[in-house]
Amino acid sequence: MGEVISPVDGAGIGVVPGCSVDDVDAAVSRAAAAFETWRHVAPGDRGRLLRRFAAQVDAHLEELALLEVRNAGHTIGNARWEAGNVRDVLDYYAGAPERLTGHQIPVPGGLDVTFHEPLGVVGVIVPWNFPMPIAGWGFAPALAAGNTVVLKPAELTPLTALRLADLARDAGLPDGVFTVLPGRGSVVGERFVTHPAVRKICFTGSTEVGTRIMAGCAAQVKRVTLELGGKSANIVFADADLEKAAATAPYAVFDNAGQDCCARSRILVQRRVYDRFLELLEPAVRAFRVENPARESAEMGPLISAAHRDRVAGYVDGADVAFTGSCPDGPGFWYAPTVLLAGSPADRHWREEVFGPVVSVLPFDDEADAIRLANDTEYGLSGSIWTRDVGRAVRVARAVESGNLSVNSHSSVRYWTPFGGMKRSGLGRELGPDALHAFTDVKNVFIGTEE
Ligand code: NAD
Repeated sequence: MGEVISPVDGAGIGVVPGCSVDDVDAAVSRAAAAFETWRHVAPGDRGRLLRRFAAQVDAHLEELALLEVRNAGHTIGNARWEAGNVRDVLDYYAGAPERLTGHQIPVPGGLDVTFHEPLGVVGVIVPWNFPMPIAGWGFAPALAAGNTVVLKPAELTPLTALRLADLARDAGLPDGVFTVLPGRGSVVGERFVTHPAVRKICFTGSTEVGTRIMAGCAAQVKRVTLELGGKSANIVFADADLEKAAATAPYAVFDNAGQDCCARSRILVQRRVYDRFLELLEPAVRAFRVENPARESAEMGPLISAAHRDRVAGYVDGADVAFTGSCPDGPGFWYAPTVLLAGSPADRHWREEVFGPVVSVLPFDDEADAIRLANDTEYGLSGSIWTRDVGRAVRVARAVESGNLSVNSHSSVRYWTPFGGMKRSGLGRELGPDALHAFTDVKNVFIGTEE
């Protein structure tokens, strides 16, 4: 922790000292004190403060986007969407405090009502691949439900989260309600897990670290939401609009340089159209614009770090490369979009999350074969199904063990709808109308009315 490096050219762009365990403890104490006031702020006023926070984000959208281009190497188009997503998610959940209703349940002998009580201090732990949206998906519903938040950005990408904390203060959020604590996972992140006053962990990151966090939370029966890794399938049936499926497939995996938990990094193509699909895919991959992410035309920027580029390259060494796109040389952690042919589902690049601009292609025979291959993974986050047969689309969507599927589209994340993984891709759901409930506990109150 310390110097922040831009992946675009390897230059230092600032120094952010990491917090210590004592810093975390002090911040959690402030957050716990602030909770006693924040939870009692009238629902309409809490909503109004979140709307003001959204307006601050909107007023600084370009500044936040440019910061992310520099810090994370995201394309300017994506970075604007990401800052806009924080604004939209805040606006969406700003409507929630006034609608957080419980039930009135018919019981004999009295009146029974339920309340959705906030938990207290929520610890949000964020990875480096989407620093802004993933932060917002945690803090916006948590705050709306009446919790206070301590948030740890990833070591490599702390800048936008720190700026968001300034904007929250400028919007009038009281001191201690939303605190950003940069630092190491093994120091700040672990302290969130072990601190008894942190009542929930909302973690996004690798399955390895998430598994450890879940075990740590178990010691205190601490609530936990996990958004973890993925190895999602893009299933292309012979009856699909092949031109469209091939033209869009690169965006479904190379967006954000493949550093996307929802990346459709396994393309399954029905054997009859396998050769034709590859023929159509090749020009789309070669045309993919990998360039300085500050350019309006950029479709992909660099990878996050030199170490990560080495890791990604390790999956391509010795593999059967079908074709590649291009990328700039010179400084910066560039890697060209790469299409690999899988010899069998046992290939390492077919099984493991590469988290880079590398996609593996494998043929399948029929619907049952496609479903079997798609499900032959420990992950289950997202996926796409390309077919013109509506019945098949529904059957396959129901059969693929994955939290977010799209038919004839590659959409995964819409803030109106629930997002999250099956199997080892995660636990719980974020976004959508129900996310608030993950930041509350249900309390049941019975009032006797017998004389
Ligand atoms: P990571 O697990 O290494 O780190 C994620 C965060 O956890 C960082 O802030 C890190 O500092 C912190 N951390 C590390 N060790 C910790 C510990 N012992 N205790 C507490 N916190 C700790 O992941 P990464 O490399 O930053 O992100 C890439 C991974 O995230 C990929 O596997 C990707 O699929 C996943 N991801 C999932 C989703 C989703 O919504 N499912 C979204 C984005 C990324």
